[in-house]
Amino acid sequence: MNQTRREFLAAAGAAGAMIGLARSARAGESNAPAKRHIVTLSFDDGFRKSSVRTAEIFEKHHLSACINVVATGHLANYSAADKYQQGVLKGDFGLWNELQTRSHEIMPHGYRHANKAGLPPAEAKDLILRCLDVFAKELKGFDRKEAVFNFPYNASTPELEAWLATQVKAFRTGGAAVNPWPRKGQAKLTCRSAGPENAEPAVDREVERLLAMDRGWLIFNLHGLDDEGWGPVRATYLDKLLERLAAVQSVDILPAGRALAKYAAGTA
Ligand SMILES: [Zn+2]
Repeated sequence: MNQTRREFLAAAGAAGAMIGLARSARAGESNAPAKRHIVTLSFDDGFRKSSVRTAEIFEKHHLSACINVVATGHLANYSAADKYQQGVLKGDFGLWNELQTRSHEIMPHGYRHANKAGLPPAEAKDLILRCLDVFAKELKGFDRKEAVFNFPYNASTPELEAWLATQVKAFRTGGAAVNPWPRKGQAKLTCRSAGPENAEPAVDREVERLLAMDRGWLIFNLHGLDDEGWGPVRATYLDKLLERLAAVQSVDILPAGRALAKYAAGTA
């Protein structure tokens, strides 16, 4: 980290703490500074090695990871959707249930990782329903009304979005990286991603943009760690990023579903 950014982050943290204290004092709340920035790192595709390592790194910082998996990705007859998933072993629902009991959020990322924007609407809807059925059967406690569906390739259509909002709590698709603060009934979440090369510079840029704002919710879509998948980041980078963000008092690092549950409940 260069000096400029260190100073910037220090200033952002200090400003956040002062505003947070003022808000807490007004509301007669506890001394905890109010959060103004939510960071969701949304990891797709369910690569086994990367998912295990991602969960470990989040646990090291007492945080929950946001991991989005393909319903049939672990099956022997699954054919990789693209060259970036080719030959990379995916986890199965044994692992997903274990990670969930360790506080991580496991959410759907398609039945077979199809690009839904390129399919007839009826076929796209059928695949999404089949994906949700697999999750209901395989993932303990899964409730589609609390689920965030993460579109493969962040590719959706207005018709699919309108329909999906009636099936699940929310969905993630392509768009602006920084979302408005969570609000009740918010179904559409947008994100950006970067690849196929290392995504770290893009993550750094979006984090700086978020911290320069008064308030916002950054959702950045990542995939594997180190050499796995499209647009990876290094495990060492993720570790340092979480350490850096956790030190900024205005920042809350949360999976997407939990950000909605924590901050959208009770809002108008
Ligand atoms: Zn994917």
